[in-house]
Amino acid sequence: MKYHSTRSKEAYFDSRDAILKGLCDDGGLFVTDDMDGERLDPGALIDKGYRELAFDIMKRFLSDMDEKSLKDAIASAYDDKFASRLITPVTPLGNDWLLELYHGPTCAFKDVALCMLPRLMSIALKDRDEKLMIVTATSGDTGKAALEGFRDASGIAITVFYPYQKVSDIQYLQMATQEGNNTFVGAVRGNFDDCQTEVKKIFSSDIVSELEGSGVYLSSANSINIGRLIPQIVYYADAYRQLMARGELLPGDPVDFCVPTGNFGDVLAGYIAKRMGLPVRKLIVASNENNVLTDFLTTGVYDRRREFKKTISPSMDILVSSNLERMLYYESGGDCELTAGLMKDLSEKGYFRISDEMLSGIRESFDCGYASDDEAREAIRASYESYDRVVDPHTAVAIKVAEDCRRRGAAGDCPMVILSTASPYKFASDVYGSIFGGGAVSGQEAMALLYERTGEPIPKSLRDLQKKPILHKEVLDIREMKGFVYDNVRRSLLL
Ligand SMILES: *Cc1c(COP(=O)(O)O)cnc(C)c1O
Repeated sequence: MKYHSTRSKEAYFDSRDAILKGLCDDGGLFVTDDMDGERLDPGALIDKGYRELAFDIMKRFLSDMDEKSLKDAIASAYDDKFASRLITPVTPLGNDWLLELYHGPTCAFKDVALCMLPRLMSIALKDRDEKLMIVTATSGDTGKAALEGFRDASGIAITVFYPYQKVSDIQYLQMATQEGNNTFVGAVRGNFDDCQTEVKKIFSSDIVSELEGSGVYLSSANSINIGRLIPQIVYYADAYRQLMARGELLPGDPVDFCVPTGNFGDVLAGYIAKRMGLPVRKLIVASNENNVLTDFLTTGVYDRRREFKKTISPSMDILVSSNLERMLYYESGGDCELTAGLMKDLSEKGYFRISDEMLSGIRESFDCGYASDDEAREAIRASYESYDRVVDPHTAVAIKVAEDCRRRGAAGDCPMVILSTASPYKFASDVYGSIFGGGAVSGQEAMALLYERTGEPIPKSLRDLQKKPILHKEVLDIREMKGFVYDNVRRSLLL
């Protein structure tokens, strides 16, 4: 399978190049035109375990990788660091289903991809005399999942920046206690945007040319990398398999997926599974009050010129959903010129508009809706009261949107699978408050109270946090970030 930019078909790349590059030189995202022939036959899924299915799907997209290396990478990514033997178990929520994506080492869905990406990068680096320093800014969740994924990866080190005193106490502890001799964490005096802006500057600074002769390159781990997207296709197929095994589906029966969405990476993986032939009726895009996607999928106008809202589902507080560009490419029938034009409008005017024809094509695969913070809190409370399920605020947004779809008759006469993207204990204060009321309590205290009142087991990695030594204490000014990256390269890669 070959990859090219969403904005041009002039150059083609194999998957190893696409993974190491991340983004195309013209600013577009890597896509492949070869996947529609890759039929995912539902009948053939039934006997497979997660790892076997992962290999079957990923090898098609990573056809230039050595199969043995890929199989080994999958085996070591999806092992007992996941707290469930099923890796991503499907469990009932009333008449619907939760696809639990939060059993990885940091208790959020990004683990599923970030356990795999570093291993794919290592395979791509093999036989090249190159090393990578991953540099990432985080508002909390992605940083920890990336640190955990890249720890001890060969030929790769990682530096994560987060805004000093502006992440939750659980997120702080998760990052400050990070183990691994190739992991570096800096707290930056500033906000998340400051961190993000400076990281972008570092990527085009003199450090890049200074490192050139040494074979060290800077790279990022963000969700537009195909090495994050491809591993996410697997759990859609595996969810289908689990529902067949439970007798809820016969091979070929349709299913709906409702996906809490921020950067459009998770739901895009479902769209790819559907294009490969998985019998998905609709993908329901669930947003919080930053509902730019709900408006887009309703009117055909994507308009980011609006107030940014801080919500209790912070990983979905996004106004520019980067991965949407890939869906636009496919739904325009592979029209690079059109896709590039829409993205140009977005960056220059702050909005773009698609034709009615294209919108109705998109609506054949996608439905949408959004939930306010109050509605998400109510969904958390109701899920506990009615079904004895403790869910996190991101999952709650999707539960509410799925319910709305059903109420207005837009849900199919088929099983509804709601993607559950974080452990409730990652957002223990809001979850506890939603169910039991009362004033605000700290994350640690809320964890203990939530456990006491609900009996929902606390994930081991979160329970042990208090006991772990603080290993990362650097607090930096913005202008010190570049030097920190350089020092880290020297300490870990230029030995
Ligand atoms: C990142 C994230 C999302 C959104 O996923 P996208 O791929 O960005 O759409 C939803 N929930 C949680 C908990 C997340 O961490």
